[in-house]
Amino acid sequence: MSRSDPLARLIGELQRLPGIGPKTATRLAHHLMKTSAASARGLAEAILEVKDTLIHCTTCNSITAIDPCNLCTDPQRDRTRICVVEEPFNIQAIERTGEFHGLYHALGGTLSPQRGIGPDQLAIDGLIDRLEGVEEVILATNPDVEGEATALFLARVLRPRGVRVSRLAFGLPIGGDIEYIDEVTLARSLSGRRSL
Ligand SMILES: [Zn+2]
Repeated sequence: MSRSDPLARLIGELQRLPGIGPKTATRLAHHLMKTSAASARGLAEAILEVKDTLIHCTTCNSITAIDPCNLCTDPQRDRTRICVVEEPFNIQAIERTGEFHGLYHALGGTLSPQRGIGPDQLAIDGLIDRLEGVEEVILATNPDVEGEATALFLARVLRPRGVRVSRLAFGLPIGGDIEYIDEVTLARSLSGRRSL
């Protein structure tokens, strides 16, 4: 990944992206070499613009250009419900269902003893600070091992604080990801959510 070998450096950088292995990184790097200088520059600038202009909402931890974000300040949203997701981009998946009109909270990941991620690494304190006036917290972490463990942990933390805690009713095989669940199924799992 030395600077004297730009192609190896690009492959190395691409490989650090989630879901990109060495083969895909190599294929993408060679594709980028073939594209015009203008479109390569467009991609590079788009990446830099995201880093320069977007921040995390200090209330819900979503990605936004203004703080607090539009969802947090929208007077039409139901402030008695908070839907907790793993990553900010999961908010769009829930929004697309049209089934939820409350507020969101992005944890920024899941609990993972293997990866050394404990409660302090997630935006859990920020969630607890938001509970005033909240009647229900819906846990929409992924239906995989880490997502389930995180939901159970949050349920234990939240229930004593007098808030109803519910979980999406996934009729899905464990190991799923809410990003890849179609809108109809996700809407159904929201409306059929069960208390934890
Ligand atoms: Zn927000």
